[in-house]
Amino acid sequence: MESAKRVADKKDWIKGATGDWEVIIGLEVHAQVLSKAKLFSGASAEFGGEPNDHVSFVDAAMPGMLPVINEFCVDQAVRTGLGLKAQINEVSVFDRKNYFYPDLPQGYQISQYKQPVVGEGKVTVDLDDGKVVEVGIERLHLEQDAGKSLHDQHPNMSFVDLNRSGCALMEIVSKPDMRSADEAKAYVTKLRQIMRYLGTCDGNMEQGSMRADVNVSVRKPGGAFGTRCEIKNVNSIRFMGQAIEFEARRQIGILEDGGSIDQETRLYDAKKGETRSMRSKEEAHDYRYFPDPDLLPLKLDPKRIAEIKASLPELPDEKKARFVSAFGLSAYDASVLVAEQSSAAFFEAVAKGRDGKLSANWVINELFGRLNKEGKSVESSPVSAAQLGGLVDLIANGTISGKIAKDVFEILWSEGGEPAKIVAERGLVQVTDTGAIAKAVDEIMAANPDKVEAVKAKPTLLGWFVGQVMKATGGKANPQAVNDILRQKLEINQ
Ligand code: ADP
Ligand code: MG
Repeated sequence: MESAKRVADKKDWIKGATGDWEVIIGLEVHAQVLSKAKLFSGASAEFGGEPNDHVSFVDAAMPGMLPVINEFCVDQAVRTGLGLKAQINEVSVFDRKNYFYPDLPQGYQISQYKQPVVGEGKVTVDLDDGKVVEVGIERLHLEQDAGKSLHDQHPNMSFVDLNRSGCALMEIVSKPDMRSADEAKAYVTKLRQIMRYLGTCDGNMEQGSMRADVNVSVRKPGGAFGTRCEIKNVNSIRFMGQAIEFEARRQIGILEDGGSIDQETRLYDAKKGETRSMRSKEEAHDYRYFPDPDLLPLKLDPKRIAEIKASLPELPDEKKARFVSAFGLSAYDASVLVAEQSSAAFFEAVAKGRDGKLSANWVINELFGRLNKEGKSVESSPVSAAQLGGLVDLIANGTISGKIAKDVFEILWSEGGEPAKIVAERGLVQVTDTGAIAKAVDEIMAANPDKVEAVKAKPTLLGWFVGQVMKATGGKANPQAVNDILRQKLEINQ
């Protein structure tokens, strides 16, 4: 479907005084290329360091210095393009985008304009309610980052830090295909996930490795697109959602008051929760783009593109589909597991040769739940995949109940050890001996004749009996056997 035609779900419509409205969003995401060196110099692209530690003569724009393309950065852009199922352009061109800024010593930014390295592609975005939305990619181009002006170091001077100057950025421009703040948030999350899988951007928004310019307009559902405003440099997914919601309401307010939207660039003030005008279209820069005479057009050998393609890892969508079909998981569980490569690999190590659903249950609910609670990552998990696998085995073959397994998990987490050994040494083996269970049931029935009477009229009381038997057997009785024996002795048939 042509992107403009998709109408938002009714639940995402925004109620105004004159009726319903739809929000239209398109994003320009700047993603810093994961690379040791900068785009046109050998200086380090590492985050941090003392101001101006990572600056070569090229980055400082000393006279006579010439840019030399970093081929690794180009490969990273191609890799990202392939991960976005996009057209790779065998010929692309670097242009000069001219503007003055104290932290841009060249007086221009080297970017790509009419002929970007990557053309149209698409990203499949899964939403929390299970809905799937496809977001079109318009283009991906390579460009240099600027430096940073520091205004808080001296009472009457500003300083310039050029560490970031010249770092490679990929600008990924989406089509105006998103219809709610949630869709935009899910899109950026997916983009970050794909780039992390590819190893082309670390997606660290706090360190500025990923930031978004958010284009927002509103229209009557299904109507013609309205004029958009662009909210610059949003550096968190949460703020992006807030900015979109504020901006859509602001525009609706103006339109319903009979006004019109000025195409302008705005800033999001997270403290005040509002967007503010930076500059209008009339004040917009004329960048006077022209091909950079210091750089030849970028020509990619089709063989190189094919090699990069062959080296791509299994991407999140494919991995998720495989987890659903190979392990019988729900789409939801599969998407939780593939959120990061490391969590997916952990799950696969647990599930290999075991019951997929049971393994997923233990990995997601017990392990990830606990890791989240303690702020730990999968990589630093105190319980290894082998240990969790051993625990799953003991549950699957009936040695321990799910309840005892939680206790064993606790021991693995805090003390470590081997699950089968822990169970054997601490006498945690499940009681499946029906004689022992029956004896416990008899004793509880004898001690509670009133409850035995009551349960006939109120079968929900059965739960109380189950609890008592479990207590009497130290939680080790096989729950199915307990239920069967209780039902039989208490003469409950339903
Ligand atoms: P420009 O070159 O002026 O930045 P682009 O065509 O490159 O304009 O669009 C920039 C971004 O704005 C793209 O991500 C696009 O999806 C988005 N966009 C375009 N039109 C609209 C609109 N009416 N509402 C919301 N976003 C839009
Ligand atoms: Mg643009």
